[in-house]
Amino acid sequence: MFNNLSDKFEGALRKLSGKGKISESNVREAMEEVREALLEADVHYEVAESFCGNVLNKAVGAEVLDAVEPGQQMIKIVNDELIELLGGERSVDPETGQIIAPEHIMYVEPGPTVLMMSGLQGSGKTTTCGKLAGYLKKKGKSVMLCAADLQRPAAVTQLQVLTEQVEAEVEGTGSVQFYGEPDKVAAYGEAVGVAVDVCRNALKAAKREKVDVLILDTAGRLHIDEDLMGELRRVNAAVMPHQIFLVIDAMTGQDAVNSAKAFNDQLELDGVILTKFDSDTRGGAALSVKSVTGKPIRFIGVGEKLDNLEEFHADRIASRILGMGDIVSLVEKAQEQVSEEEAMALQEKMAKGQLTMEDFLKQLKQLRRMGSMKSLLGMLPGVGKALKDIDLDDKQIDRTEAIINSMTKAERKDVKLLDNSRRRRISRGSGTDQKDVSQLVKGFDMISGMSKQMAGMGAMNRLSAMKN
Ligand code: GDP
Repeated sequence: MFNNLSDKFEGALRKLSGKGKISESNVREAMEEVREALLEADVHYEVAESFCGNVLNKAVGAEVLDAVEPGQQMIKIVNDELIELLGGERSVDPETGQIIAPEHIMYVEPGPTVLMMSGLQGSGKTTTCGKLAGYLKKKGKSVMLCAADLQRPAAVTQLQVLTEQVEAEVEGTGSVQFYGEPDKVAAYGEAVGVAVDVCRNALKAAKREKVDVLILDTAGRLHIDEDLMGELRRVNAAVMPHQIFLVIDAMTGQDAVNSAKAFNDQLELDGVILTKFDSDTRGGAALSVKSVTGKPIRFIGVGEKLDNLEEFHADRIASRILGMGDIVSLVEKAQEQVSEEEAMALQEKMAKGQLTMEDFLKQLKQLRRMGSMKSLLGMLPGVGKALKDIDLDDKQIDRTEAIINSMTKAERKDVKLLDNSRRRRISRGSGTDQKDVSQLVKGFDMISGMSKQMAGMGAMNRLSAMKN
């Protein structure tokens, strides 16, 4: 996502930043390039026009042209404008002055908070219901998932299976349960209001069970039609959800934005969830949806797995587009996997030179849970672009894991035991080359040696050692 757009933005801005002084016509030229890049990324025509118009006005109005570092100032203006386009800074609670994070709108007191999910068939609505339940479970909430998509019979079973998966696979102090009335599937289509009844019953059950959040997976269609909208309006009137989210597929570009507009006209949405953000789309939907519908993107789906859901933050995405990386999201991902105590304990072990292959394996597993190597490294400033054409090999981690798994407990504790015959055994057991095993042991020796050495130094020495 955004690779091409990033390149074009950087190119246009680099031309400006190289100059000691820039003129209005330089800025106009650069904006012409940006406008083209936005249109190529499938951004709505009017949105691209107004974006470039705004940047131009600000650049001229703010007397950037006379500034000492006009290039830097231009980057700031473009960054601010991109944030605005993507939905603006996170909203702030007028009473407390605190930032309202997506999670804050997800539960109101007293519960249950009702979230109604809508979207066209195939947009990823049902999967996103499961991901949201996992997101809430991690935050300690109890969730009920209601199968109100009776249009597609398999959707009821899909949601039930997803519920079981979230319960089994997502670690968290919350809980997830399923509500469904599979016998109503047959009645659907013959009588208006069957899905509405299911939602009403689910709300009763959610109150009885005292769950924090009820998520309604409503019907999808291939196209927007009056029957679908009628049903969604009736569900809305019957259970009065706190939040209505529309799930749209980033891969469908302008179509996604058009359907968001149509849904919003009929249903007064609260927010949008953009799925398939991990795919190779051009990014137009993300950049147009707020301008066209006035509704913010709240979450993005970044893969098919249950934990591939991220909160959407306009400032972080703008940073990624401008090639400035997204360190904040990276750190958050790391914090999700490793607690502070764990990190401290590990640091201590490293300092004492007691790091074992077992620790190393654990680290690898945590790293893998954070996402693909490419997506992680892409969050580092300047790295995303460099990685564009490189096929980063997650299999390398697979191989390393297999090698460590083939070691005995004693070997994992003390790699010095690994003589040639043991290395041969391990390479056979893990289906790798013996030289892979040797390379891993050598790398591991180096890391544990270095970390022990560093622990003995003061902070400043440590920094300069790293630079050398
Ligand atoms: P629904 O008809 O809207 O309920 O769609 P589903 O939830 O069944 O999803 C349709 C397909 O999209 C499934 O194959 C999902 O695995 C896939 N999908 C959903 N979200 C994402 C995402 O964020 N990234 C990717 N790559 N695939 C997704």
